[in-house]
Amino acid sequence: MQRRDFIRHGGLAGILAAGAAPAFAQSQPAINWRLASSFPKSLDTIFGAAEVMARYVAAVTENKFQIRVFAAGEIVPGLQVADAVQNGTVEMGHTASYYYVGKDPTFAFDTAIPFGLNYRQQTAWMFEGNGMKLMREFFAKYGIVNIPCGNTGAQMGGWYRKEIKSVADLKGLKMRIGGFAGQVLSRLGVVPQQIAGGEIYPALEKGTIDAAEWVGPYDDEKLGFNKVAPFYYYPGWWEGGPQLSAYIGQKHWDALPKHYQAVLEAACAYAHIEMMARYDAKNPGALKKLVAAGTKLRPFPRPVMDACSAAAADLYKETAAKNENFRKVFDDWSKFRDDQILWFRVTEQSFDNYMAMPKAAAAKK
Ligand code: CA
Repeated sequence: MQRRDFIRHGGLAGILAAGAAPAFAQSQPAINWRLASSFPKSLDTIFGAAEVMARYVAAVTENKFQIRVFAAGEIVPGLQVADAVQNGTVEMGHTASYYYVGKDPTFAFDTAIPFGLNYRQQTAWMFEGNGMKLMREFFAKYGIVNIPCGNTGAQMGGWYRKEIKSVADLKGLKMRIGGFAGQVLSRLGVVPQQIAGGEIYPALEKGTIDAAEWVGPYDDEKLGFNKVAPFYYYPGWWEGGPQLSAYIGQKHWDALPKHYQAVLEAACAYAHIEMMARYDAKNPGALKKLVAAGTKLRPFPRPVMDACSAAAADLYKETAAKNENFRKVFDDWSKFRDDQILWFRVTEQSFDNYMAMPKAAAAKK
């Protein structure tokens, strides 16, 4: 049975019911894995997703399949999770694939590329489009099996010590920004820095960097960025719907009983939904608190957005011309994105825009 058929027809409830059957229980070997996360423990959202996943796996297998989750730095640094899974230091990881664009920019499609898909669209590409097939083919070159395991939704554009009023204000700006987005911004004069989540605050506080982006209000407030930079920009055009992924070493995946593989995929799918729900539920309160405490909320000026969009388009064209892995995924991905935009602009966007208008408040009473 195909993975998606399993999820569709069985679902977590089906697995749980099956787990209660004695014959099923007897066939469960004891397996203990270590998972290296790219994220700090303080973030119950993005770090928490791996714990949510591991708890489900344990519950469904009556604690026979245990996955112990380690924070960034406990086994390996946050940005070395792919290596740790590839070389077998750990059986499993939880990370953002775009951290590894230095190995191959194609990794970025598994998370987000600038001016790309929102959460719904990324999930649609992975689960119902060609995303999973294409990314699994790509990850196989690294001996890794990837499973979508979380999404943050559209992110904020980050924290800045000074206002960004024009494209010229980007020149010389030292900014913590992950993945492919750094390459886009460097074309406009930004000096991008790749720094793991737990290490951003000290860098911004010391003035090693001038700006930093992480995720959104709930995480950003916890990490304390508002204390060291007053301007909070939106939208994070480089991350319209960035996905997190569970990585499993191919040989460990192959050695798993088939029903454990299915449990793991279903648990990741649950954690995927749960992470997005947690962010959506917690961001509004955090945003209100930040603004009340003096954070200055600013939209990126349209000319800045347009310049970044043009730089991204050039970068994709150049990258596709010299990297066959990238070209193959980009061709499929960009057609999917264009269709998604066509569909979303009809009713999703009209509905969202109407609901966001002040006068629509009358209907909310
Ligand atoms: Ca980010």
